[in-house]
Amino acid sequence: MVEGGPNGVSNFLDSIWQNTSPYLRIEALSHCLKSCGRSKGECLKVKDYIENRARLFNRYSEFSCPDECNRFGCEDERLHVSVSIIDLVAASLLTGKRVFHLFRAHYKIGTSPMEEHPWIQRFVLELKKPCPFLTEKDCEIYRGRPITCALFPEAFFLSPGQRRGLDDEKFGHYPCLRGPLVLSERRRFVLIELMEMARREALLTEFYLFGFSPLFVDLRNSVIDVVEVSQNTSRSIGDAQKPYEIPHEAFEKILVRRLGNGGYLSRIDSKMDELNGASGIEALFEIKDWTDLVAADDKDFPYCYEFDERDKLNLAKRPIPG
Ligand code: SF4
Repeated sequence: MVEGGPNGVSNFLDSIWQNTSPYLRIEALSHCLKSCGRSKGECLKVKDYIENRARLFNRYSEFSCPDECNRFGCEDERLHVSVSIIDLVAASLLTGKRVFHLFRAHYKIGTSPMEEHPWIQRFVLELKKPCPFLTEKDCEIYRGRPITCALFPEAFFLSPGQRRGLDDEKFGHYPCLRGPLVLSERRRFVLIELMEMARREALLTEFYLFGFSPLFVDLRNSVIDVVEVSQNTSRSIGDAQKPYEIPHEAFEKILVRRLGNGGYLSRIDSKMDELNGASGIEALFEIKDWTDLVAADDKDFPYCYEFDERDKLNLAKRPIPG
């Protein structure tokens, strides 16, 4: 028996979350959303979207991970897997674990540098590595895996006959990246559709978690912090071959520490907590309608932020270098 109202929905979900198969949970989510008086169209939105994504993941794909691969991409800490808030919801539906608990255990707030301007970093949601969902050689959340995982490695071969974007020194030993990897025309279209979905989900994620999208932070007013942390975290400072390289972890450590000091991490925790119930998940999809409209405009916000002395984020009013 399903009770009405948001609390009824949460209790109902609580009882089914632990005892049903993943597919039933998605069914049940849609069913109990219907019971709290929302329209049929709204109720089916979450289920339809996540199922449609799962269908696209392998549609027309001829790729499968080579037997000889030890799933380097899932294990390797140097390969950062950014994820969206919807990836997290999908993982929650498949595993039966609450979004907040999954976030705390298996994901983190990380940063991604601008290629030519490592002082400017973008906040992202990431999987912890080695990936906790890897069991032996299988992905425990295969149907609900992050879009980034579903795109790998095919998206790197979208330019006919060549691989682009991954450093050979770090990733040359991945059997799947040695190529060639031939993609059919129809698979190319699916990959492009998935990339567009990923772009929209990234906008939603940043807006939902950080309140801005994209959240680029300029670290040039934190030089002393970065050098100090670098000296403690890496031997590459002072290394004869790469004397000026500042490791990614140093930037990330500083930024995430300042995010915590500024009170932003606890707000992110609360946002994750709101997604533990069906009404929170549905509210997220209502926000997505809005962020999708913004994404359709295809205009990135061209400015970066910086932390002030109290670790509050302020618009730096400095354009992001092109
Ligand atoms: S989610 Fe699955 S495919 Fe993605 S890194 Fe983890 S185990 Fe690999």
